[in-house]
Amino acid sequence: MNASGEFDIIARYFARLGANRADVRLGVGDDAAIVMPPPSRELVITTDSLVEGVHFLPNASATSLGHRAFAVNLSDVAAMGAEPAWALLSLTLPRIDEPWLAEFARAAGDLCRRHDVALVGGNTTRGPLSITVTLTGIVPIGMALERRGGQPGDAVFVTGSPGDAAAGLALEQGRLHVTDPMSAQILRDRFLFPTPRCDVGIALRGLASACIDVSDGLGGDLEKLCAASGCGAELDATSLPVSEALLGAVGRELAREYALTGGEDYELLFTVPLARLGAMTHAIARGLGPVTRIGSLVAHAGVRVFSRSGVMQFSRAGFDHFV
Ligand code: ADP
Ligand code: MG
Repeated sequence: MNASGEFDIIARYFARLGANRADVRLGVGDDAAIVMPPPSRELVITTDSLVEGVHFLPNASATSLGHRAFAVNLSDVAAMGAEPAWALLSLTLPRIDEPWLAEFARAAGDLCRRHDVALVGGNTTRGPLSITVTLTGIVPIGMALERRGGQPGDAVFVTGSPGDAAAGLALEQGRLHVTDPMSAQILRDRFLFPTPRCDVGIALRGLASACIDVSDGLGGDLEKLCAASGCGAELDATSLPVSEALLGAVGRELAREYALTGGEDYELLFTVPLARLGAMTHAIARGLGPVTRIGSLVAHAGVRVFSRSGVMQFSRAGFDHFV
């Protein structure tokens, strides 16, 4: 990208994007940023890319991309129980499209301000459209949530209504047709504008024994949590929190399949030891957010889902029915 074009774009759209944080000593404009981590805290660092044709469709709007590029990283920081703070943005653009950039920056800025995230730097180059965000979060020493802390007997919870986003993606791709336009829009928006569960993640410090965010599908991500924790899980299919929109759109059976295997949810999947279930109930009563208990960890490896029609065993390829 020619030097003046790049300079103008950074100054216009990215120099002051997001929150204005007092702990940013030097933001966009120098060779690197300088931030001041608070004492007695650990930093949690993550990065995720969105590549055209791989992570989004060629017709994806700048609004959705600006939101999702940051939302997927916010979700990873949330899953660690950390408070998001500083972001870097690496943009590869096929051309300078000012209306696109303005919309991308507006959507990204809105989400960053909502979560008190400052954009402190990045990189801008020319090439096939690709967006990489690196996000750093802050957590008290030793308090971060990991995948590996689950124990047999722990209760398994999930936030929100998994499955919506996968149905939304199927709608976007024309693989699914939904007659009710309201439901279709709700499902599409759940894919295009995922809600990172940052407040829930922070509230789970000291409560959850393990946590992961659902990006590849609830069943598969639960399997990852279980593998890291050295145990398995049993889920009750009837307790899966499927939304009215998804239920109305595809019916109960398919709704559960979307919820278990869909992906793109960016919900938190976490475990709570039985001894802390009382505290968990209090947290829910105090407005923790939309969380639902869906099962338990067990000693036996693997993820099994119980429903009226039998038991499903989760495998990488999906769910295999066996009775
Ligand atoms: P350098 O050549 O030293 O790496 P650049 O000229 O690439 O610096 O970038 C100048 C400044 O603009 C740096 O502070 C960099 O972090 C920031 N920057 C570049 N691109 C972006 C972007 N897309 N979003 C935010 N900050 C950016
Ligand atoms: Mg430099």
